[in-house]
Amino acid sequence: MKKIAFVVVGVLALLLFSNVIVLTAGASDDDEKVVIPNEWHGKNKVVIPQGDLVQVVYIKRTDDSAVVTNDPTLVYDGPWTGTEPFPNQHYYNGYDVADWHWVLSKSQNPRGVKYVINPSTAIIKYRLTPPAVVNAIQNGFQAWNGVGPKPTRSSVLYTYDGVSFTARHSDRIDNKNVVSWASIRDSNGNPDPNVVAVSYMWYRTSDHGLLDCDTVFNTFVTWGINSGGSTFDIQDIGTHEFGHWTGLNDIYDSQYTPMTMYGYASHGEVYKRTLEQGDIHGVEVAYGMPLT
Ligand SMILES: [Zn+2]
Repeated sequence: MKKIAFVVVGVLALLLFSNVIVLTAGASDDDEKVVIPNEWHGKNKVVIPQGDLVQVVYIKRTDDSAVVTNDPTLVYDGPWTGTEPFPNQHYYNGYDVADWHWVLSKSQNPRGVKYVINPSTAIIKYRLTPPAVVNAIQNGFQAWNGVGPKPTRSSVLYTYDGVSFTARHSDRIDNKNVVSWASIRDSNGNPDPNVVAVSYMWYRTSDHGLLDCDTVFNTFVTWGINSGGSTFDIQDIGTHEFGHWTGLNDIYDSQYTPMTMYGYASHGEVYKRTLEQGDIHGVEVAYGMPLT
């Protein structure tokens, strides 16, 4: 009898505990859910070949020790025209080109890529207005527009395709590029607040052309727009994630901390909003091949 009572109390405690987790995290049942399998623990990039296709998952994690407070000599606000001196050649080489890129016909130059935003959780949970969320994400994409190799200076032209309150990240190819929020958990259902965002992308092996990209922001961390210390800046993290869409890998060497494509994120940072030489040069290299 005692044993049964103990079990009942245990189950009640467990239920209460899980309710507390759900309440404090504020994640409702309506939230989109994303599971990061336990075997991916500690990984920042997972590559899953599936026949003629490859799925790649980037998992962005927090590291508040990697904070850049001031990097004026590194700020670089536009495409390299080939004439500006580099304050530090070293930073020009801070990039890692991925194995895929957008491939469209010459008539689609620049390569137009549409994206849809589902801001519903950000509006409800972080009390942000839809235009503010949309604007922050648009700015993140805009950072990559027009960046590309000489002489065409063409890589990708990201085009806003509207808000959808039903659009969600898909594990399969649905030909819809979606930016949304979801509760990111491990295989046991536990929240993972060390994960900031996850980007899912699919490309075909024949020409390494991208087919589908989705980015999910984790609702177990707090989001804002340049709102300081305890929040993640939507535009800052978005700009980084859309660098993956554009064809760049993370870089983790701490000497490249100021780069947009530096793999860790810290609370309150906004410096990833601005591309550095290495980010720009990486796109120039990635799209340096002739258009097909
Ligand atoms: Zn990343």
